[in-house]
Amino acid sequence: MSYKQTKMWTVDNSEDKSRSHAELKEAGLWIKKGEVVAFPTETVYGLGANALDEAAVKKIFAAKGRPSDNPLIVHIANRQQLAELVRDVSAKANMLMDAFWPGPLTLIFHKKAGIAPSVTAGLPTVAVRIPNHPVALAVLAEAGVPVAAPSANLSGKPSPTKAEHVYHDLAGRIAGVVDGGLTGVGVESTVLDCTSDIPVLYRPGGVTKEHIERVIGKIEVDPALHRNDEAPRSPGMKYTHYAPKGELILVEDKSLIQAYVDNEQKRGKKVGVLTTEEAKEDYRADSVIACGKREQLETVATHLYGSLRQFDHEGVDIIFSEIFPEEGVGVAIMNRLSKAAGK
Ligand code: AMP
Ligand code: MG
Repeated sequence: MSYKQTKMWTVDNSEDKSRSHAELKEAGLWIKKGEVVAFPTETVYGLGANALDEAAVKKIFAAKGRPSDNPLIVHIANRQQLAELVRDVSAKANMLMDAFWPGPLTLIFHKKAGIAPSVTAGLPTVAVRIPNHPVALAVLAEAGVPVAAPSANLSGKPSPTKAEHVYHDLAGRIAGVVDGGLTGVGVESTVLDCTSDIPVLYRPGGVTKEHIERVIGKIEVDPALHRNDEAPRSPGMKYTHYAPKGELILVEDKSLIQAYVDNEQKRGKKVGVLTTEEAKEDYRADSVIACGKREQLETVATHLYGSLRQFDHEGVDIIFSEIFPEEGVGVAIMNRLSKAAGK
């Protein structure tokens, strides 16, 4: 499907009056009637469609070029909506919802009938969350239906953290974009399967394993998160993701980066370095991008995808990146960087 024009709605998300905005009403209504509309969440921009409408959900897959076996997360405005979608909600899942919703934690449950089949890619389970962003919550409330929403980027590209990123990838391919400024967390939600006694972590994100274990005790981690030879239990994790056009190489010992840069430049390549505020003066390259502060890993997460897109914008052929400690949100950062580097 192609659109002559992709509508842009601009909202001021600093005011909490978002709910009353005519723009948000219209965006919600378009979703309700079967259109695909992008909107900001606290993680990244999502591309939303009515999760009960198969034709609408198919438009998401078409616009993104997303493989049909990669299921979508259903976004809801409140806990009441959960009952229509899922069954067998465990005590642990209830504790997690009390602790982290609205927020960047997606939970997987056994599904009820009625959800459009493409949302779950034929699985008996469905992934659900309540986002913690006033614009997302207002659009969901106006839509009045559960909304399937993957990241609003072309499949394989870095996820969008600004409306411009969405527009760059999807203009002419979707009905509209709600511009609510830069998203906060910057990496996608944590995905946790709650259908077994001991929940299983499929994707690290803004809510960390430690946060979860403080609430419900020990959880398992899908072995595919650490090993490339394991088939992941979350279909989306098998695909290349988040990748810039340039080749991305993660360098454990940052004292080697400058020599790598010099070497590639000698071979005629346009070279980038992904670093942080603390070290940006240490490098000479065609493009040196400081992605937040190493001392505050949350800021690195916020700016990670925007930085990868900036290298593309500058036509960089090869990017050398520092690595980050795998603590807190650093686990999610390294998961995304490793996937973007094709490992
Ligand atoms: P995205 O919407 O691009 O953030 O990706 C959603 C992620 O959630 C993908 O990695 C999916 O594989 C995962 N996911 C969604 N639904 C399920 C499900 N029912 N079972 C396992 N993983 C799921
Ligand atoms: Mg995605």
